[in-house]
Amino acid sequence: MEPLIKIEHMYKIYNPGDDEVRALDDVSMEIQRGELTAIIGHSGSGKSTLMNMLGCLDIPTSGKYFLNGKDVFSMTDNQLSDIRNQEIGFIFQGFNLIANLDALGNVELPLIYRGIDKKTRQELSREALRMVGLEPRIHHKPSEMSGGQQQRVAVARAIAAKPPIILADEPTGNLDSHSTEEILQILKGLHEAGRTVIIITHDPDIASQTDRVVQIKDGKIEKDYWNEKE
Ligand code: ADP
Ligand code: MG
Repeated sequence: MEPLIKIEHMYKIYNPGDDEVRALDDVSMEIQRGELTAIIGHSGSGKSTLMNMLGCLDIPTSGKYFLNGKDVFSMTDNQLSDIRNQEIGFIFQGFNLIANLDALGNVELPLIYRGIDKKTRQELSREALRMVGLEPRIHHKPSEMSGGQQQRVAVARAIAAKPPIILADEPTGNLDSHSTEEILQILKGLHEAGRTVIIITHDPDIASQTDRVVQIKDGKIEKDYWNEKE
């Protein structure tokens, strides 16, 4: 079967010329369906740039990206936004919740954009909040929750529509170790349920708990290896 994700010779060059930054410098990689992968590297190594490419949020200077065998960078903006809505659940370091909506409202919002009816939206949202252990707090606003709880709302929002791919950029970057562990367990559970999960992190402890680690440095893949199974 063809890989879920296939990237070929991808470059992203900012400020071309004398002080150019090669945020991605000839990256080629494949990710199969159902993998749990960490993309790891120091700050400035190109992780978020790569995540933005994988998530169809940005286009490279050159290179190819096939998602499910389809050539992403030849798609129209509408096709790209359909892919983002239907295939990918995004989780960011900063939670990105809407302050005046409660947990349920935040999780429901992207389902509104997908045109899902209210009853189904509420069912999916409650189910997602239950999965992250937040059912008792569905009517709490972000300001009434801890950072770890807010990130669990963001995870629920990412998974409510059951996208096959979960992309998380430093999802635990703002969290204490207890909340980090909770988020990691949820992401592992999603992987066990068959999703393809990609976690971008600079934390080696997190990378040690995934199946595969892709290490990037100065925009290049420096190492790509599988963790030993426990
Ligand atoms: P990471 O997520 O690993 O910290 P990034 O992908 O954010 O790294 O950044 C990789 C490199 O690209 C860094 O040197 C960063 O300064 C540079 N960079 C990122 N975005 C831009 C931009 N919009 N304009 C110019 N340089 C950028
Ligand atoms: Mg980053």
